[in-house]
Amino acid sequence: MTNKPLPQIDVETAPFWAGAREGKLLLPHCGDCGRYHFYPRALCPHCRADGWQWAEASGRGVIHTYTIAHRGAGPAFKDDVPYVVAIVELAEGPRMMTNIVTDDLSGIAVDLPVRVVFDAVTDEVTLPKFEPA
Ligand SMILES: [Zn+2]
Repeated sequence: MTNKPLPQIDVETAPFWAGAREGKLLLPHCGDCGRYHFYPRALCPHCRADGWQWAEASGRGVIHTYTIAHRGAGPAFKDDVPYVVAIVELAEGPRMMTNIVTDDLSGIAVDLPVRVVFDAVTDEVTLPKFEPA
């Protein structure tokens, strides 16, 4: 269990969370224009088609930007500091807000290659995070 706030799983995002529980990073993939997007939404943000499908991503990307938190975002995070909050640009194109898991904060940098890891925080919620590749 965790005392941290958790994502609200709904009908639109349930496949994403089911994939994460199985160790798969799923992204919406548009069959019309061939591009990926994230977060999931009814229409493809690139071409407005409504025919996208979930597809497994490579789990690879680079750090687009990041910050190192030295004060937790509320009491639930105070024991985690310092921790890295980042936007990772996935190899498939979309950017995802996440945490970078590392013991070497001095190695964190923009454009650092990273790969996905999965943090099972409850029976229902597994969070995709990233580590240096
Ligand atoms: Zn599209």
